Amino acid sequence: MDCIFCKIVAGELPSFKVYEDDETLAFLDIRPVNTGHTLVVSKKHSTNIFDVSQEDWTAVTKVVRALAAVIEKAVSADGININMNNREHAGQVVDHLHVHIIPRFKGDGFKLWHQSAYKEGEAAMVQEKIKAQLV
Ligand code: AMP
Ligand code: ZN
Repeated sequence: MDCIFCKIVAGELPSFKVYEDDETLAFLDIRPVNTGHTLVVSKKHSTNIFDVSQEDWTAVTKVVRALAAVIEKAVSADGININMNNREHAGQVVDHLHVHIIPRFKGDGFKLWHQSAYKEGEAAMVQEKIKAQLV
């Protein structure tokens, strides 16, 4: 399979690894939003949140939780964003499951998401749509 993150996991492409265990690998993003920007990937290939096994997802999120604190301290950041892009139109470029750990610094100027407001009755409608999918 022609997957760059599988190649990094296999050691066929170089990376700046910061953590590794049997299920996961964490390495520096090559084009960091801020210094210390790290990607945590599952060693077993899956595309994104929609096809990852619960087992692999649990392994990845466990590492994300632990590394967030480690990275914040290591680069003296003032906070951390955890981000994940799932599918092309959500900004996913590399089709191998990965979670971004992005250090944030006071005054770094990055804005969070644009937010809007629900129209009258809209929130209740969306709530019903989501709940209907749960059954
Ligand atoms: P996404 O948009 O969530 O798919 O993010 C993919 C990320 O992978 C981007 O932030 C890229 O900078 C990063 N990236 C792509 N190729 C490499 C590589 N060879 N080593 C490290 N990071 C990479
Ligand atoms: Zn892969």
